[in-house]
Amino acid sequence: MKDKKQILICGPCSAETEAQVLTIAHEIKDIPNLKYFRAGIWKPRTRPNSFEGVGEIGLPWLQKVQTECQLKVITEVAKASHVELALKYGIDALWIGARTTVNPFSVQEIADALRGVDIPVFVKNPINPDLNLWIGAIERLQNVGLTQLGAIHRGFSSLLKSTYRNEPMWNLFIEFKRLIPNLPLIVDPSHMGGKDFLVAELAQKAMDLAADGLMIETHISPKTAWSDADQQLTPADLKTLLNNLIVRQENLNSKKHLQELEQMRDAIEEIDRRLIECLAQRAKLTDEIGKFKKKNNVTILQVRHWDNILKARLQQAQLLDLDQQYIKHIYQAIHEQSIAIQRHSLDKT
Ligand code: PEP
Ligand code: MN
Repeated sequence: MKDKKQILICGPCSAETEAQVLTIAHEIKDIPNLKYFRAGIWKPRTRPNSFEGVGEIGLPWLQKVQTECQLKVITEVAKASHVELALKYGIDALWIGARTTVNPFSVQEIADALRGVDIPVFVKNPINPDLNLWIGAIERLQNVGLTQLGAIHRGFSSLLKSTYRNEPMWNLFIEFKRLIPNLPLIVDPSHMGGKDFLVAELAQKAMDLAADGLMIETHISPKTAWSDADQQLTPADLKTLLNNLIVRQENLNSKKHLQELEQMRDAIEEIDRRLIECLAQRAKLTDEIGKFKKKNNVTILQVRHWDNILKARLQQAQLLDLDQQYIKHIYQAIHEQSIAIQRHSLDKT
């Protein structure tokens, strides 16, 4: 990744031994624009009896990375005592993990421990898809005076079986960016994918959505890593991934291109206005149908009719090369709203 504005954070999931930390750091120290070397010192684990991090003894290893490799180092903190130790050993930046962001008490404890120390802190999204919880954590840090904040999108837990360890839910990434446009938002494709072969495509997707950087796990011997063995890349594979990454600029420079884009956006705006007008007309008709059904004493839902509507719309969509799932999704939302409107007209009349 050669773009200077991008925030690139790489290193192992966990610091295991001094030799492991330093070997990895030496292998990756020349990556252009590597901003921080990461290593987890305290590891929040889903089940007990897994490796929970080496703790304080690992902090001097990170100091060696600073001096031997001229790299800044970052680690995860989950409580005040972690913050105090990280500061004592001169760790350059901190991140708050997904399992901690979910808990406002823990985030507040971390914020209080950081009062008066303006160190960069990155906040991972909470495990559950709740943007307010994520934003709330950032606000708690802002409230104690921290100004060098960033966010890390690492995907969300889902009950549904998925290719990914954590569902990317890119719509939430986009919404987060829209709500807090000035906060750097980077992506962690390692924890999102959970498998080494998924990391590159997720990293590219992040760049295509104008992410401000990446956090990627790397290990000299991924298969024998003490944590997250399936998702870590060798330093060589990490370099290949970064070299192949296409980083496009978010804004157009040329006036002519800008005008072309503006014209296309105007056309979309016009279509969107018509869409909303159509939905309003549809809602009005739905309301009338609701009253009609009430007068004639028939149920709101006539399932065969709904089935016919959906089939007809999907058929039309197919002819127009529209994705079936997408149209189904939209029509389900429209139908749900129709039922709500008709219920309302039942209550009114
Ligand atoms: C990590 O970065 O090693 C980690 C534990 O990540 P997350 O909080 O995203 O699960
Ligand atoms: Mn990890």
